[in-house]
Amino acid sequence: MAPIDKIEEEFDYLVIGGGSGGLASARRASKLYGVKAAIIEKARLGGTCVNVGCVPKKVTWYAADLAEKLKEAKHYGFENIGTPTFNWNEHKTKRDAYIHRLNGIYERNLQNDKVTYIAGIGSFVGQNEVEVTADDGTKKVYRGKKILIAVGGHPDIPKIPGAEHGLTSDGFFELEHQPKRVALVGAGYIAIELAGMFRALGSEVHLFIRHDSFLRSFDPMVQEVVTKHYEHMGIKIHRQSSQQAIHKDESTGTLTIDYKDKDAPDGSKLEVDTLVWAIGRKPDTPWLGLDKPGVQVDAQGYVKADDYQNTNVTDIYSLGDVVGKVELTPVAIAAGRRLADRLFGGPQFSTRKLDYNNVPSVVFAHPEVGSMGLNEPEAVEKYGKENVKVYNSGFTAMYYAMMPQEEKAPTKYKLICVGPEEKVVGLHIVGMGSAEILQGFGVAIKMGATKQDFDNCVAIHPTSAEELVTMV
Ligand SMILES: Cc1cc2nc3c(=O)[nH]c(=O)nc-3n(C[C@H](O)[C@H](O)[C@H](O)COP(=O)(O)OP(=O)(O)OC[C@H]3O[C@@H](n4cnc5c(N)ncnc54)[C@H](O)[C@@H]3O)c2cc1C
Repeated sequence: MAPIDKIEEEFDYLVIGGGSGGLASARRASKLYGVKAAIIEKARLGGTCVNVGCVPKKVTWYAADLAEKLKEAKHYGFENIGTPTFNWNEHKTKRDAYIHRLNGIYERNLQNDKVTYIAGIGSFVGQNEVEVTADDGTKKVYRGKKILIAVGGHPDIPKIPGAEHGLTSDGFFELEHQPKRVALVGAGYIAIELAGMFRALGSEVHLFIRHDSFLRSFDPMVQEVVTKHYEHMGIKIHRQSSQQAIHKDESTGTLTIDYKDKDAPDGSKLEVDTLVWAIGRKPDTPWLGLDKPGVQVDAQGYVKADDYQNTNVTDIYSLGDVVGKVELTPVAIAAGRRLADRLFGGPQFSTRKLDYNNVPSVVFAHPEVGSMGLNEPEAVEKYGKENVKVYNSGFTAMYYAMMPQEEKAPTKYKLICVGPEEKVVGLHIVGMGSAEILQGFGVAIKMGATKQDFDNCVAIHPTSAEELVTMV
């Protein structure tokens, strides 16, 4: 390695990436343990979640939810509602302003916690040295006694002709106007959430999936119920599909997708106004100079980190999306805080680490999905069919009592228990309010609750969640 002329400043803890995990870890280290910490961030503070993920997504999900409620209000006796229209551009402007406020709050939080904020792109130039290139091209080298890699990832796009005409989830948040006709490609939670929002807000939606159902890492009940309901909402699902090329008519902006699916032969064409690729994400490691300290990555470029977030290089750690374990904001935050405790909190925290099991997760689909622990096939494989007992419940939430059959959304719950004590190892819920319901049940499952513990809790009536403590 070439000798480094000048070190701008040395820190006890130098964090690359000012997203969920990096911010949480640096702030904890500085605020609680008085460590001299710095954050290097190349874009806007807050990372994916705040700028192009959870937060703006949930704001638009609320709009989509309201759109559904506005349609349903007449069944409760509301009159003269007319036909509400949605001003996407105004919604986006207000959403952007909210995110902008959050960026400011994140910066002030760093100041309050005495974490130095270094704007620019970080790249290793030595084992403990990171060069930061600012927007104006100036370069400075910083040293970290300990360094955390928390650079997250970016959306992937396929290598087919014309793929660049499509957006990614990042581009979704830049859309100034609502497209009339949208195609989404992908079967993971991001594709499903965006498809549901577009549809609820009135767009024509085509969802291209490679297999016969989506959300394939979720319990089969979840896959079946949501796939069916999406079709009921009018989303056209293209099963067993693939795309060969995308063409753009430059005068109208219309995109033509060359595709095939289960029912449409090779060479079929679909015209849309917007195409969104939601086929997965890739770690932001290729530009990090990881070869300089010799940090190992796997075949997909994810940093290899052990249960304690250690990389293979002493004093270099990694967590969050860039390690590719469980790609969720609270996971990155929890791992970041625990790492700061372990590194700087003294001997009582020497074994502190995040338990990646039983992490609750939700999908802001229409209706919402909540999921925790093993799904049924996983439980059967792990414990044997004879040791697994599954409780199912399907019903119509009371909210829909006033509505005609065709406007009712399903509610389905599944509880997966094992052994004679019926320990709850999986909980899967689809229906209104599932995201809020799951958190409390998550505490119980994390504590090792059994079916009997669930039943011992008296129901809250009338709610949907009460079904979870009265299942037979
Ligand atoms: C559309 C969408 C919706 C989502 N919804 C949810 C949700 O509802 N709930 C949930 O829990 N999770 C959700 N997620 C996932 C969540 O956003 C991520 O799991 C989380 O942001 C990961 O945090 P992180 O700190 O690992 O990375 P990030 O938040 O991505 O932060 C990494 C930061 O590092 C910066 N960076 C990268 N390279 C460099 C470099 N070389 N130098 C300096 N800075 C660099 C990046 O600019 C970025 O700010 C969603 C994600 C997407 C895309």
